[in-house]
Amino acid sequence: MVSRVIPVEDFDLVIFGATGDLARRKILPGLFRRFVAGQMPEAAQIIGAARSEQDDEAFRAETKAAIVEFGGVKKGDDDLARFLQHLHYVRIDAKGEGGWKELKAKMRKGAVHAFYFSVAPALFGDLAERLASHSIADGESRIVVEKPFGRDLATAKALNATLRKHFEEQQIYRIDHYLGKETVQNLMAVRFANILFEPLWNAQYIDHVQITVAETVGVGGRGSYYDTSGAIRDMVQNHMMQLLCLIAMEPPYHFDPNAVRDEKLKVIRALEPVEATEIVRGQYQANGDGKGYVEDSENPATRTESYVAMKVRISNWRWQGTPFYLRTGKKLRARTSEIAIIFKEPPHSIFEDAQTSGEPKANELVIRLQPNEGMNLKVMIKEPGPGGMRLVQVPLDMTFADALGPEGADMPDAYERLIMDVIRGNQTLFMRGDEIEASWAWTDPIINAWENSKQRPEPYDPGSSGPDEALGLMHRDKRRWREIRA
Ligand code: NAP
Repeated sequence: MVSRVIPVEDFDLVIFGATGDLARRKILPGLFRRFVAGQMPEAAQIIGAARSEQDDEAFRAETKAAIVEFGGVKKGDDDLARFLQHLHYVRIDAKGEGGWKELKAKMRKGAVHAFYFSVAPALFGDLAERLASHSIADGESRIVVEKPFGRDLATAKALNATLRKHFEEQQIYRIDHYLGKETVQNLMAVRFANILFEPLWNAQYIDHVQITVAETVGVGGRGSYYDTSGAIRDMVQNHMMQLLCLIAMEPPYHFDPNAVRDEKLKVIRALEPVEATEIVRGQYQANGDGKGYVEDSENPATRTESYVAMKVRISNWRWQGTPFYLRTGKKLRARTSEIAIIFKEPPHSIFEDAQTSGEPKANELVIRLQPNEGMNLKVMIKEPGPGGMRLVQVPLDMTFADALGPEGADMPDAYERLIMDVIRGNQTLFMRGDEIEASWAWTDPIINAWENSKQRPEPYDPGSSGPDEALGLMHRDKRRWREIRA
């Protein structure tokens, strides 16, 4: 199966923070891959901007090293050398007036102008202000901003207000890279391009939904930053919320950015508050040579969670009585992200006498985000062979890389796809300001209740599935978590 690559319009993309970690690991290697794929127009320019003193050649050399390290260079140096010719550098301090004239001189009339704010959020206001005051950005320009978008409702509102002073909502692209993942978009395709699932996609047929984002790494290296955030701010408020929305939302009238985002917003607004008894927080402990969360965060008094599991209810007709269980954590057994839709059992079994292995009989649709993006539908069949009717559950597996052939194995990474969407002017996979605010409005009371309590997170062993109390969250409801495995 050959995927079509449609070149985007001619563009000038300015990356503020072009010497930083995100630009080096994701943005620049991603742009290189799009270049190799033939999606970047001949005249397109990528202009790096940061405070470091360097010229175009030094920036190109630095970018080359980053692409070799992180970009999986496949096609050899020719492509890389040609790609580097698209790169330029301007020395700019977001808080100063130097460099803006030079930047303005580089921007070409007629090209799409996009400004990627790959810097600390505290600098977003300075950048927006100066892009406007130096008449570099206009009503057609686009800005791209990274997470974290605020740390609560008040700061998110302030950030939105700052950006909206100079840019309209349709110019602001708030990145949640989860939305750029192939499988996440496939969620919409599976739901709304097939007749098969949608009739069953409700509380009448779905028992519950589990969303798991498990990591094997701890927070070592960025422990002091993480300690100001925690799993709820870092994962639940943004990535997991987006996944939940795509599963729970009503069909939009059209695959149109605002139609999709309107439906997601309705889901967030329908979320019920989470009771203190329906959320479990955890911290990984030290074991062997490995430091525990307390040591990694360098904060002996820390109550920040490196793990959270919670039961979430959506108060609307479609989902009344069907809970969504969310869990995410660091230093868990395996690195995996998945959404599992657990259907109800058939209302009546005609196979009462059939021997089964005692395994669950309910259908499960598992959508894997990583590793091995794909889907897996568990169905009951007759165990092959003679000897009467014995039932067994088997997976119908579709790993996209297998199903789609070599093209499937070479799917664009989330950042590549999202940057190309910015150039195309397609906001479907970006979060709207009201969506982010609604999501903080739901998360704030959960965080505040914890901050006002004296509870401590439950300890869990590195390499485990999280604290035992999280198992209890399910057992109470006579359900169980799926095993965390790669
Ligand atoms: P970083 O490694 O600290 O890089 C920051 C960049 O900003 C550097 O290029 C730095 O270059 C530049 N910078 C700092 N102060 C500046 C100023 N006053 N004016 C102009 N440029 C300035 O940070 P990062 O990890 O790349 O993260 C960038 C943004 O992406 C942050 O908002 C972060 O939260 C977000 N993010 C990062 C990741 C990730 O994986 N790294 C993931 C998700 C979100 P100079 O020092 O040369 O100016």
